[in-house]
This record gives sequence, structure tokens and C-alpha cells, in this order.
Amino acid sequence: MALPRALAAPILTRRGLERGAPFPGGRPRKVAMVYPSPYRVGMSSLGFQWISSVLAERGFQVERVFLPEDVEAWRKARACPVSEETLTPLSEFPILCVSLAYELELVGLIELLRLAGIPPLRRDRRRHRSGGHPTVLLGGPLTFSNALPAAPFVDGMILGEAEDVVADAIDGFFADGHLGGLAALPGGYVPDVHGETLPPVARADDTLLPARSRIWTPETELHDMFLIEGERGCHRSCTFCVMRRDTKPEPVTGRLDRGGMRLITPDRLLELIPAEAPRVGLVGAAISDHPQLVGLLEALLDAGKGIGISSLRGDRVALKPDIPRLLRLGGYKTLTVASDAASQRLRRTLSKGTTEAQLLACAEAAREHKYRLLKVYMMLGVPDEQDEDIEELITFTRRLAAIHPVALGIAPFVPKRNTPLDGAPFAGIAVVDKRLDRVRAGLKGVRAEVRPTSARWAWVEHQLAQAGWEGGEACLRATEAGGAFADWKREFGREGFPAPWRVVSDAADRA
Ligand code: SF4
Repeated sequence: MALPRALAAPILTRRGLERGAPFPGGRPRKVAMVYPSPYRVGMSSLGFQWISSVLAERGFQVERVFLPEDVEAWRKARACPVSEETLTPLSEFPILCVSLAYELELVGLIELLRLAGIPPLRRDRRRHRSGGHPTVLLGGPLTFSNALPAAPFVDGMILGEAEDVVADAIDGFFADGHLGGLAALPGGYVPDVHGETLPPVARADDTLLPARSRIWTPETELHDMFLIEGERGCHRSCTFCVMRRDTKPEPVTGRLDRGGMRLITPDRLLELIPAEAPRVGLVGAAISDHPQLVGLLEALLDAGKGIGISSLRGDRVALKPDIPRLLRLGGYKTLTVASDAASQRLRRTLSKGTTEAQLLACAEAAREHKYRLLKVYMMLGVPDEQDEDIEELITFTRRLAAIHPVALGIAPFVPKRNTPLDGAPFAGIAVVDKRLDRVRAGLKGVRAEVRPTSARWAWVEHQLAQAGWEGGEACLRATEAGGAFADWKREFGREGFPAPWRVVSDAADRA
């Protein structure tokens, strides 16, 4: 069935706005690069863009498919999601290469498969060679912590850094018609072979770094920004974080390694940035710890580029005042740092070194360089959080706001696998909401805005973060039932789930 004009038009419009290096066409081996969130989110993902490029360089015909912005309109029109490049229906690709950033994007994957008429569960699909369904290969940031709930939906996964492995895996698929060889590759996980035991994550050879995008567009939140990683990994040890240094696999070559960070030199970065790219986004878990960051920012400004940065450590902003100054000159409007916990005591217990003095220096820098806002990311509900910690947060935020307008980006703490805090309890929806109310009340009348993420959805994320395969099946049932919170609560509260799930669902019941 032809795609209705109203659904095709936005795709053609945004294609026309893209700049950079389009994916070559006319090749025989077609791969759908699938992002289970809308275009504006997927095209802001450096990993998605990078793996697409790696596959194109290896001779595959790469076509991108995103979750439609308006799923309901596509459902009503009974339209199959299509690729950006040739409007080919998703169901016609032999293999789908899916990038999953975090747990709740599983819903987007299920929606995409259902819209395409592809049974979401692997056990319900037939192999493509026999006129059946596409094979599904999955990778992405979620594979660094717990990708088990995604297992029922995929034929295989690549855990960790996929750029060394993904082309070989897909070569094997086109040769044999299945992903059988994947199990022998680094990071290769085949549910039918491994069961629920995940192999170690893969680590790419340093020579393949840095990841970089090939297309920039005004149609994303990052607006016409060419993304490139200035470093990979982190040398710090925050106990809640999957990017911490101890969670990394052993180096393959170790040429770039500096205590857990793989640093890319400014010369190499500048050589790879296209002259015509108007803005450059520097990416890396600990990019502000790059020892040559100031020189790099100066060189980018000299080249007339706008600048963005994926993360800033408060201590670096405090110790190197040139960083906020240069970023502001590069068009950076909101100075964003993380305090991570409500009080100094809790920051210490999480091994987060940032101090109050450093955060105050960030507020001073935001004022001095006329930033629109100081945005501070933090978590509520970390282990051992007490009412006194919340009072300290309020008092301290009032001090920050006296210097410069503040936005507190507050996310409920969700413990992740592959971190020291794996297995720590979720605080409970009622507890998080009560503390949020207290923070809002305590900040009334000051220049501090509270921007929380939902405690309910954090609870769902927690269920999935701690789950095995059964979490994926529960996710499917909840999505098919409509995906309201009550649907998730019912699924996770079913008898037969492991004990921790019951405990957490009790916390939800109190909400
Ligand atoms: S939270 Fe940031 S500084 Fe801490 S380990 Fe993770 S990436 Fe590194």
C-alpha cells in the first residue's frame, strides 16, 4: 500500500534539511538502522549515527528508520514505518539493527515492530530467507548495564562498544541467513545460545575512535550540530554510574587510555570536523576532564564554529574558568553541571567529588558570562537519603539562586546493573513525590525552578533495570494493554516475579 502523502511529507522535508554526507544508495545488502524514538531524538544520538557510518563504510546500504512522532496517525492509516532514505517499509528489510539507549525505549521498539506487522517476540517470527520476518540485532548504551529485558525481542545483541564487531556480525548474517556466528564475537549475545547469562561487553580498538556523526540537521534539539567524541569512558568512580572506570573491559591496545578515559588529541579532532559544519558538539562521559579542552575550544572558536558539550563537571568549571567563558562565546546558553545528590554527605557516599564551593563557583561563572540559566542535575531517593539532606538541598539551592537563576533537573535514583549500587532499593514513588513537594515548597519565591522526571516512570525503569527476560514479556503485555502506568503496575505485580519486584511493587502501592 502506498504511503499516504501526509505521512511521507515530513520525512521528505527533513531529508531536504540534512547536511553532511548522505548514505550511499544502490547497494545490494540493505540494513535498516532503527532508532525506537522519533527522528529528533535519534539524530541526536552519536552512537546511532556512528554505527550507521561504520556499516556504510563496510559497503552495506544503510537506511534509517525512526519511531514516528505520531504513532496513532500511522496506526490509523495502517502504514508501515519507512526508511528516511528510500521510504522502504521496515518489514521489507532483511535485518534491523536497533540502538537502545535506555529501558523505556523498549516500548518504542515494540511499537515500531507492531506498526510494521512484525511480531515483537522472536519466538513468533519466521526467518526472512523463507519469506518471513526481518532478523533483529540490537546494541546501544543500555547494553552496558542490563539488556536482558530486550532479549525476547531480538535474535542477537552486541554488548558494549559495537564498532569492531557489528559489520562482521552482519556480514555473517548475509552469508548464512542468521546470526549464528555472533555468539563467537566479542560482546556477541545470542539469547538462544547464552540463555540469561550475558557475556562481557566488547571494547573497540582505539584505532577506530573517535565516533563522529556524518549528518547534521536543524530538525533536532542539537540544531545543526556535528557530533564528535573527544574522549571515551571516565576515570572517576561514582558508585551509581555505568561509565565509571572499573566497569570497563580491558584495553585491546591501550594506546589512548588514561586511567579509564580514552583521549583523542585536538589535532585529530580538528582534522575530522568538516569545514562546512556550523556547530560542533563535543561528546564524552567525562569530556570536561580532557586535559586539552581549553585549547580545543579556542581552536574551534578560531575556526568560527559554534560549540556544544555533552557534560560538564562542576569542579572543572570551578578550576578552569576558561571553560565556561569559551563555551559561552561558542553559543552555549545554559551552564549545566551535576551535583547528583541532595547534600554534601550524600555526594561523598556516592564518591562524587563535587563540593558546595565548586557549585557556587559555577553559579558565579554563569552570572559573569551571562548564561541564561545554571542547570543542576541531581537525583532524589539515593540510598540513606534523610529529611536533613533535603533541607540542605533547599538551603543550598537558595544560595545558588541568590547568585544566578537555577533550574534543578531532578531524577529519581534508579540503581543499575554493573555498578556498585546494583541491588540498592528504589526509594518508592510516594517517598520521592513527598520529597519533591518539600523541595518545591522550600524554593517558593526564589529564582529556582524544579524540573523533575516522573517518579512513576522511574519506578518502571527500575523494574526493567533489574529484570531478566520476564521483564521484556511484562513490558510487551503492558504496552499491548495501552501502556498506562496501571498496566505496568499490574504486570510487575503479578505472582511469580522474583522477590525484589514484589518489594518494589509494594512501594508503588503506597503511591
Ligand atoms: S557520573 Fe560522570 S564523573 Fe562520575 S563516573 Fe559517571 S561519567 Fe564519570
